[in-house]
Amino acid sequence: MGRRRSRPSLVILAIALFGCSPQEVGVAPTSPSRRSLAPLYRQRPRTLESSETAPTQLEWPLRGVLSSRFGPREGHPHDGIDLSVSDGTEVHAAATGEVVYSGSGLRGYGNLIILRHGGGLVTIYAHNSELRVAVGARIERGQVIALSGHSGRATAPHLHFEVRLDDQPRDPELYLPPSPH
Ligand SMILES: [Zn+2]
Repeated sequence: MGRRRSRPSLVILAIALFGCSPQEVGVAPTSPSRRSLAPLYRQRPRTLESSETAPTQLEWPLRGVLSSRFGPREGHPHDGIDLSVSDGTEVHAAATGEVVYSGSGLRGYGNLIILRHGGGLVTIYAHNSELRVAVGARIERGQVIALSGHSGRATAPHLHFEVRLDDQPRDPELYLPPSPH
């Protein structure tokens, strides 16, 4: 039931040290507006045969310290959560879906994977050191899709993980079971 809240001071320290802010890159400082990611994958034809219902339960893409939560941070939106892990950690698909983006064309996000799961839900995995899947591939829940890293705007190795519904960022923790970490 209850989420473990051990070592709050360490978590705060981790936020200070490891926080990432890809949203701050590529937009004017005076306009910390949210960026749409839909143009990256809107042109991809739908290949999912499964129902179009968006999954309501995701699984953690990896085990790591939750170093930054979803929501505004120092006046800027933080559209996902940060999981602090060492470089080269396997990143797993949070749900079954298809790869609609695999590349480094979005400033700040580094080597980026975007998976589409149906029902308008996509998951986003940023700052990887290595991408293991190509656009168009069908992905099973839990499949390794990348190795974590600190590419893009990241001061330390971590996975920046986003959940978007119809391109609107949602708090990933609302889709995930309580952190086992
Ligand atoms: Zn982040």
